[in-house]
Amino acid sequence: MDKRRLGRTNLQVSIVGFGGTWIAELSTPTAVQVVRNAFNLGINYFDTARLDGDSEEKIGLALQDVREQCVIATKTGSRTKKESLQDFQSSLKRLKTDRLDIIQLHGIDDEKTLKKAMNPSGSLQTCKEAKREGLVDFIGITGHRPMVLAKAVETGEFDTVLVPLNVVTRQALEELLPVAKAYDVGIVVMKPLMVKTSNLITCLYQPSLSLVSDEPDLRFLLGETTDDRVRTALRYVLSQDISVVIPGLRSVSEVETAARVGTDYNGLTLQEQTRFNFNLVDYCRDCGLCMPCPEEINIAAILRFYTLYNNYGLPNWAKKLYSGLEVKVDRCVSCGNCESKCPYELPIINQLKKAHFKMRN
Ligand code: SF4
Ligand code: SF4
Repeated sequence: MDKRRLGRTNLQVSIVGFGGTWIAELSTPTAVQVVRNAFNLGINYFDTARLDGDSEEKIGLALQDVREQCVIATKTGSRTKKESLQDFQSSLKRLKTDRLDIIQLHGIDDEKTLKKAMNPSGSLQTCKEAKREGLVDFIGITGHRPMVLAKAVETGEFDTVLVPLNVVTRQALEELLPVAKAYDVGIVVMKPLMVKTSNLITCLYQPSLSLVSDEPDLRFLLGETTDDRVRTALRYVLSQDISVVIPGLRSVSEVETAARVGTDYNGLTLQEQTRFNFNLVDYCRDCGLCMPCPEEINIAAILRFYTLYNNYGLPNWAKKLYSGLEVKVDRCVSCGNCESKCPYELPIINQLKKAHFKMRN
């Protein structure tokens, strides 16, 4: 499998990595088999988290004799120095290693949390001390809001950044990648197959609401079979200027499919480039800053679905997603609270009305 440089870490990482969240659901022998299979197929980047059940333990078990050939990235979800130190020591033990490649601040989704983690008694200090002591080589950050992550990158404290990006979730391309490139920060992509709906779905073949689901619109965009859709969606991410994509993997066959994408990847075809070249003007970036709405309208979700309808050519899927929301746009009283908070100055009320008109049946 091809490798790419992970920004200023200078680590060479397989273009497809291993997202370790879902192995927490597997028995230990099965999880070890799945992880080891990934290594055997050329995957050398393994991402896990202190908060992901016993994922660290299983990765540690599977890779203990090949540890030096792997890049292991874990995360601390604690925000204070004291708690994150406990996390860090626990992660080393669980991963059966005396050194981590990357420790990441987990789920930094707003500026207040970023500030807390970065203050003198915050979790970043634990990471920096561990780095000084040679217990970890690099420090990363993870989150779901590219704008917040871009601010973190601009502090110069982080070597890697982990962010969602996929064929219909492109905010990171606009808001984060140029900044990360300027700081030579390694870009790792999560959730390559997931569209944020009511629940977070990240693993490779989770049906229902992910990009892999059997919707006619998605079959048209990404391919007829589930395997086709998985491969196309992963290839789209690989076509961007990123280092590694980490789909959540939970079976040997999922690992084989993902690894094959990495091994066979040779760029997008011209047809695909044309098909994926969407017109993204005045679209909602899904930052959530306009909420909460006093009428309990989920503005970000509705505009996200409207973007699928309007910009990504997925009208029937968008309608289906909208029909699942309990509170619809007709509850809007045009108070204007949301518009005053949108950093992109979107005409939210007007867009919501259009969205409702087009997606209501
Ligand atoms: S204008 Fe409508 S959508 Fe916006 S905050 Fe007011 S009620 Fe909610
Ligand atoms: S409408 Fe504006 S503030 Fe609300 S989620 Fe979209 S981009 Fe963010």
